[in-house]
Amino acid sequence: MREKLEALRDEALAKIAAAEDVKALQEVRVAYLGKKGPITEVLRGMGKLSAEERPIIGQMANDVRDAIKEQVEAKEAVLEGAAIEAQLASESIDVTLPGRPVQAGSSHPLTAVIEEVEDAFIGLGFSVAEGPEVETDYYNFEALNLPKDHPARDMQDSFYFTEELLLRTHTSPVQARTMEKHKGKGPVKVICPGKVFRRDDDDATHSHQFMQIEGLFVDENVRMSDLKGVLEAFAKSFFGPDRKIRLRPSFFPFTEPSVEVDVSCGMCGGEGCRICKQSGWIEVLGAGMIHPRVLEMSGFDSSRYSGFAFGMGVERLAMLKYDIDDIRHFYTNDVRFLKQFNRM
Ligand SMILES: [Zn+2]
Repeated sequence: MREKLEALRDEALAKIAAAEDVKALQEVRVAYLGKKGPITEVLRGMGKLSAEERPIIGQMANDVRDAIKEQVEAKEAVLEGAAIEAQLASESIDVTLPGRPVQAGSSHPLTAVIEEVEDAFIGLGFSVAEGPEVETDYYNFEALNLPKDHPARDMQDSFYFTEELLLRTHTSPVQARTMEKHKGKGPVKVICPGKVFRRDDDDATHSHQFMQIEGLFVDENVRMSDLKGVLEAFAKSFFGPDRKIRLRPSFFPFTEPSVEVDVSCGMCGGEGCRICKQSGWIEVLGAGMIHPRVLEMSGFDSSRYSGFAFGMGVERLAMLKYDIDDIRHFYTNDVRFLKQFNRM
């Protein structure tokens, strides 16, 4: 019996030493120390021994069991430590590597330009008004001094749903609607950004859909010098503090007098270059004093109130500011084009 226990112990310890992983070690533990293992069997057979032998063999079996248990635990600690070491080595992280950048989107350049223009005019006391894109003939034309037979309607051919309903050709109807809401009482001081539509053949500078921002200021004693001052402040805010403006006579049915507004060329500083076609100036918007008939049609007493209005193309502003050569870039959604505005 004694020899048998010693042989069991040596055999178990050899197997423990040979175990290469935790799983193999657990198998050894179950095989020798389990309920059906040889040591349990020895202890169970103690009844057959003599009274003198019983405590000696019992003690020895316990010693063998403890020795195996101890070795299993020691080996287990070694194997687990090695497993952690191996994992650390294979999953090492280089903390000096640069992080992966998060792809962030950005505002469309037209949206960014509209927001910038809005900021400039909000700073001058204007508020922002919006109106419907499907408009009535009355608000789009008639309320703006463009009766049905007026030849100036030819410049703004549009998409009609019915005789009386069309896609608006400019944002001016928002001005007519805003004035009407004020029921003849000033001041009215708004800018109106939005999409407009004209029947046009698309090319590098024309699009059947584009965006405008119009502005309107109606109050007592509003003069042409107020118009010039406001537009000059805007030009300096949007294009740069060194820019100047000039006014040239023009024609619009809803303003009298009407002007085209030019901004001094940013490329040559007014000396003349390829960009400004040697003139030193770049045309950016149309403006004028609101025609008395337009004021009257919108419910304002033209002997008491006066005002000015102006309108500009958002695409043209963006093309001038960011040197973009084709209006179609704004509407074809080419990510390579749009990505250039990520830092705006
Ligand atoms: Zn120039």
